[in-house]
Amino acid sequence: MTAMDPDCTLVLFSGGQDSTVCLAWALERFARVETVGFDYEQRHRAELEARPRVRERMKTLAPAWAARLGEDHVLELGALAAISDTALTREVAIAIGESGLPTTFVPGRNLIFLAFAGALGYRRGAKHLVAGMCETDFSGYPDCRDDTIKAMQLALNLGMERRFVIHTPLMWIDKAATFALAHEIGGDALLDVLVEDTHTCYLGDRSQRHDWGYGCGTCPACRLRADGFAKWMSTR
Ligand code: ZN
Repeated sequence: MTAMDPDCTLVLFSGGQDSTVCLAWALERFARVETVGFDYEQRHRAELEARPRVRERMKTLAPAWAARLGEDHVLELGALAAISDTALTREVAIAIGESGLPTTFVPGRNLIFLAFAGALGYRRGAKHLVAGMCETDFSGYPDCRDDTIKAMQLALNLGMERRFVIHTPLMWIDKAATFALAHEIGGDALLDVLVEDTHTCYLGDRSQRHDWGYGCGTCPACRLRADGFAKWMSTR
């Protein structure tokens, strides 16, 4: 299919909490929702392993979601690992590097993801791309900024002669508000998917279960998630 379908949507879906909320957000809005994930030789497989599990559970949350959720695509991006030397792809300590950015920063990662998502979306006839970038309480990754995403939308539309719309529903909300949004969309059932099945911990730890989900509890991703959950719970 190459014709553009105004309802067809491609969600950048990692298996983490944020992209799962984005998937739910898309399933509420669009008639056909496909997912794409990227295998860039992350140093653990926990997120990639979470993807099929989360997709299956999403189908059980609402008959309409089951009907709308379409194909899944996993793109191999080993080249990204080959040119990266970061804490997400190598055994490098998670800390603030000399550049002032965390060592978890993979340069250009989201630009590459969006370029591939655009190419795949073109082939699949998707008008909408949905992605979980957020500049509100994140680590200052420059490729999560709203301006970066808008520039990529413009570049894709010029370079592919299309009219993609990139949606980033989490851009201006913090982690507590992300939990609130998930609850608003899918209630306790979606919250349960986030806690039990999504994976966000940088270290890939699934041996420790907390009230906010599985993880080491100490890496930046776990701390952000734990703090957001505690803040959301205190305002419920
Ligand atoms: Zn962790």
